[in-house]
Amino acid sequence: MESGKLDLENVECNLQEIVASCVQIFALRAKQKELMFKVEFAAQCPQYIEGDPTRILQILFNLLGNAIKFTKHGSVTLLISAITSGTNPLLQFSVSDTGIGIPQDKHQLIFDSFTQADTSTTRRFGGSGLGLTISKRLAELMHGTIRLQSTVNVGTTFHFCIPLLVPQKLNPPTLLAKTAHSV
Ligand code: ADP
Repeated sequence: MESGKLDLENVECNLQEIVASCVQIFALRAKQKELMFKVEFAAQCPQYIEGDPTRILQILFNLLGNAIKFTKHGSVTLLISAITSGTNPLLQFSVSDTGIGIPQDKHQLIFDSFTQADTSTTRRFGGSGLGLTISKRLAELMHGTIRLQSTVNVGTTFHFCIPLLVPQKLNPPTLLAKTAHSV
């Protein structure tokens, strides 16, 4: 990965199945912390995409894991939306929480290896400071981006955007209905 020589898969996958894996992994953890875990699909999301589901999941697991870790009360939401639709959709996965937030001057630094927003969080929350570094590099390898908006003591939203393809045989693409539910 350091040399950027990581092989990416490009396989047909079902967006709902990717999201279901996230629900399966994080529903219990959210419940244990008495957090509401919401999953929403905005309109126009394609059901089938071509991409690397393992890498997409790796990023989502990191963002959702952090969101739950750094939130004591309230909710964590995964929103999937299509910034552009058609056969080359730009998909956005937004992970929002109502947690401790990240000070503005740390918004870039937290993507550096072994860096945490507050060094006391290492003791309070554990972690290595590597998850976001890896997630950002993986996102960039897939020509995607990760950015964040955050207010201290209010919450944080990470937006992971990724350009994908819709399988050629599915033209026009099958679109998912707009849905919102709590897990
Ligand atoms: P780790 O969580 O293992 O320390 P990460 O690279 O995933 O490493 O995150 C780096 C740091 O960014 C965290 O230690 C924390 O300070 C901050 N951070 C990441 N996500 C959130 C979040 N959702 N809310 C508050 N702080 C966060």
